[in-house]
Formats: sequence, structure tokens, C-alpha cells
Amino acid sequence: MTPLWDGTLNAKLESILDFAPSEAKRLIDVATTATGVDPLVLPVRAFLVRTAAHLVLIDTGSGSTKGPTMGHLQSSLAAIGVAAEAIDAVLLTHLHMDHIGGLTDGRGRPAFPNAELVLHRREAEYFLDTPASQLDDRSARHIAVQRAFVGAYAPRIRRVTDGECLPGISAHLAPGHTPGHSIWRIGPPEAGVVVLGDVVHLAAIQLPRPLVPMIYDVDPEQAGRTRLALLNEAARSGALVAGAHLPAPGLGYIVRQGDEFAFQPYREPD
Ligand SMILES: [Zn+2]
Repeated sequence: MTPLWDGTLNAKLESILDFAPSEAKRLIDVATTATGVDPLVLPVRAFLVRTAAHLVLIDTGSGSTKGPTMGHLQSSLAAIGVAAEAIDAVLLTHLHMDHIGGLTDGRGRPAFPNAELVLHRREAEYFLDTPASQLDDRSARHIAVQRAFVGAYAPRIRRVTDGECLPGISAHLAPGHTPGHSIWRIGPPEAGVVVLGDVVHLAAIQLPRPLVPMIYDVDPEQAGRTRLALLNEAARSGALVAGAHLPAPGLGYIVRQGDEFAFQPYREPD
């Protein structure tokens, strides 16, 4: 698996819900000291997975939808010598713009013309099938754009339920951030990678305090429960995890420190 940099997104302390601003600021300062970078400058990443049979992209970054600090996924692919045409499957964790904005080329055509688009059935039902008037306000805001970007892949859109969708790759519903947010498990449980999507959005806050939600969560309480369960599982199993907004390189391990969790970045073996 290769993390692909799309750019950065400026997170704001105000987007953290139900949490004392002074404590949020303290945790941000702790993370800044520990890593040497401002954790509110949130990285945006997608992930490339090479299996025996497929070249798979998980999420697509923001494309041209979010301004010049993002939308660098295509250059990141070119830098490692991968042509967009070579990708035969695009898997989505959820339908927020920093994950699907790179689906099209700016003229509404698929940016990955030979790819099948795979997403969880629950996410499709919420964002694609629900009348806009019945969506939550935040989800309704860009719904026409979201539907157009996903729709560009018709008829090669596959809605999946939990389980294997490509050899060695399986979907698992991890709801809260969005109703059909899913994680992707790659390879065998003991030696694979778990792609967490936005289960963790702001690591500096949500690893030490997993139940703290963000305004981007459709169901903040459910998002917290999902995050806590998956962080516990990742810490217990020692599995490699990948996350769209996790600190560099976007790939690493979750470790438990008392009641808190921390991220241990993956380092290439020497
Ligand atoms: Zn995101």
C-alpha cells in the first residue's frame, strides 16, 4: 500500500464539538511539540493498493473542489509512475468532497476511466437515494455535486455490503461520521492494513479523547462509539492502520497509553 498526498485542509478548533476550548488547545499544543507540525493543518490522503490482480485506489482526494491547497492526487500518482488509466477499482470510505472530489477530471468525466467504483450500500442509500429534503443540512449542501461526481462512473458503480468485494479486500460499515462510512480491510487480519477513512478526523484531539466529535459527523455520538471500538481493536491487534487525515505518513499503528490512544508512524525498514 502506498499513501498518496492530496494536500492539506485547515481544521479549526471551532469544528470540535462538546469539548472545552482550553483543553482542545492544550492537546493541540502537546501534539505540536511532539511532532513539530501544526496538527490543525490536516493532511488529506488517498491510498493506492497493489494486489496480485488489481490496482486499487481508496478515496480520491479533493480534485479541484477545495482550492489550491488540495487536489494533488494526480501528481502524486504520476510521481510514482502510476497512470490513472491503470487503476481498475476505486473504493470509497464515504462521500465527503475531500474523498470524492478527485473522481472526475473537472469536465465531469471519470478521472479513472477504467475503474469500477465501489462503495458501501448504506452510504449510497443515504447520499444517492435519499431525497435532498430528508438529508441533514450539512449533507444536503453539496449533494448535487456529490451525486454528479459518483454518477460519472455509471454504470460501473457497485454497492457492497460488509464482506469481501475484491480478492483480499473487504468492506466493513463504520458509521457515524456519515451513515454509511466504511472501513476497508486489506489482506489477512494478522498481516494486513485497516483503512480507517475518517474514523479519526483530528488525531491530536480524537486519539487522546476518542469520544470527542466534530461538526462534520452526521451522527456525532455514533461516530464516537465507532472510533472508540476501532481504536481499541487496532491497539489490541497491532494491525497497521491507514487514515485519510492521520499524521505523516498516514500509515502506522495505534497504541494505547492508559485511557488514551496515540499514533505511531510507520517507518520503512532500513
Ligand atoms: Zn475527510
